[in-house]
Amino acid sequence: MGDHSTFDKIEVLQGGCLCQAIQFEVTNQFTHFHLCHCYQCQKMTGSAHVSNLFTTKDAIKWLQGETETKRYTVPGRQLTNVFCQHCGSPVPHIASSGKSLIVPAGSLEGEPNLLPQDHIFMGESRKWHEHIDEAICFSHFPESK
Ligand SMILES: [Zn+2]
Ligand SMILES: [Zn+2]
Repeated sequence: MGDHSTFDKIEVLQGGCLCQAIQFEVTNQFTHFHLCHCYQCQKMTGSAHVSNLFTTKDAIKWLQGETETKRYTVPGRQLTNVFCQHCGSPVPHIASSGKSLIVPAGSLEGEPNLLPQDHIFMGESRKWHEHIDEAICFSHFPESK
């Protein structure tokens, strides 16, 4: 309990998209875990932020569906969205800088070796996100009244 070193025991994590057309394995040795709240990441996710892990380009092994992706690069920005062309799930991709592999944390089946390190681009963050800790937690969809 609370011992995050147990995460390190899983050396390779499985991952994939919602429709399972895309499947991959990635070495569980991530170097950074950023939650990006920029305007573009809000649009990419339909939510408050992306949750992206960063690692080396050779850390991934595609099992199937690597060619089933679509890529959109935001004009004028080093910001790319790569997603399954069938179900729209974001999937791992080489950063537009060409330097690292970006892995959406939610695309993984297991727990990464890192916890989120920071919230970035908070100047563009949505006001409602400041209040998410106040929201009531349910284990399932709440019963309707
Ligand atoms: Zn898919
Ligand atoms: Zn962003």
